[in-house]
Amino acid sequence: MTPRSNALSRLIANIRRWLYGLRASARDEFLCDSCKYDYRSACNRPERPNARRCPDYERNG
Ligand code: SF4
Repeated sequence: MTPRSNALSRLIANIRRWLYGLRASARDEFLCDSCKYDYRSACNRPERPNARRCPDYERNG
């Protein structure tokens, strides 16, 4: 993967996280409920389990 395509992949991933955050806020939901890291040994962010925005969010499934 070239540096340019790496940067593009990161940009797309960040936009996707931002959109998921917007959707969760609009539905009054938490990102953690659909995140694959929503368990203690995978995530020790203080906002868990009630994050509405998170740079580490990865959709579960
Ligand atoms: S990584 Fe972020 S969204 Fe996922 S469980 Fe942890 S705090 Fe929640």
